[in-house]
Amino acid sequence: MLRKLVVGNWKMNGSLDLVRAMTAELQSAAPDLTCDLVVCPPATLLFEVARALAGSRIGAGGQDCHEAGNGAHTGDISAAMLREAGASWVILGHSERRSAYGETDSMVRRKAVAAAAAGLKPIICIGETEQERDAGREAEVIGAQIRGSIPEGFDGVIAYEPVWAIGTGRSAQAQDIAHIHAFIRTQLEQIGLEHGGRNTRVLYGGSVKADNAGLILATQNVDGVLVGGASLIPGDFIAIA
Ligand code: PEP
Repeated sequence: MLRKLVVGNWKMNGSLDLVRAMTAELQSAAPDLTCDLVVCPPATLLFEVARALAGSRIGAGGQDCHEAGNGAHTGDISAAMLREAGASWVILGHSERRSAYGETDSMVRRKAVAAAAAGLKPIICIGETEQERDAGREAEVIGAQIRGSIPEGFDGVIAYEPVWAIGTGRSAQAQDIAHIHAFIRTQLEQIGLEHGGRNTRVLYGGSVKADNAGLILATQNVDGVLVGGASLIPGDFIAIA
């Protein structure tokens, strides 16, 4: 059984005040944690989060990176820059980036290669929209995302995030999560990941809160959770962990 991983995605939220409050509470909760924990703040706060968590077993991560190492890419951040700011992880291909910036599977794959080269562990997000789910196309969509966005020799994490469950308060049902995660496992084996992908953690994300996290984390093939809104509230994030 893989050790559970809980990742907080602050999105475009947070401040130095939240960094202080969150990292102080995480540091005091750290000795009792039985899972791995990662905080992904906006890039401007990454250095402060990483500094405040230094020496603990809690990691810091970015929310995206550019596929190039440097150059004329105004507004972008490279994987090496995230690493230098103290990140060990990076979220890639979040559905908000796929829809707002047209990120494709092949872009996500190239970013994952750049992240790994810089020493970051990628957390690659996949998941179907509500329309795709209603049309019964989840497996087709998720299968294509896995084949298209996960590079050869991948050493990172997959986050299954049904788009309709993100930020809506409507989490997927445990039996549906179990079903999709089992399917993801078969796909990871098919693309030829080392050890059939058995060492790859598959997280669930989408309206995970303190009151449903226990059930979701106890679901078969769920190796952790990616948390948006509830990761901004220190008590809730720690309760989930
Ligand atoms: C997310 O942003 O990845 C997410 C899962 O958000 P929320 O927990 O708010 O649904």
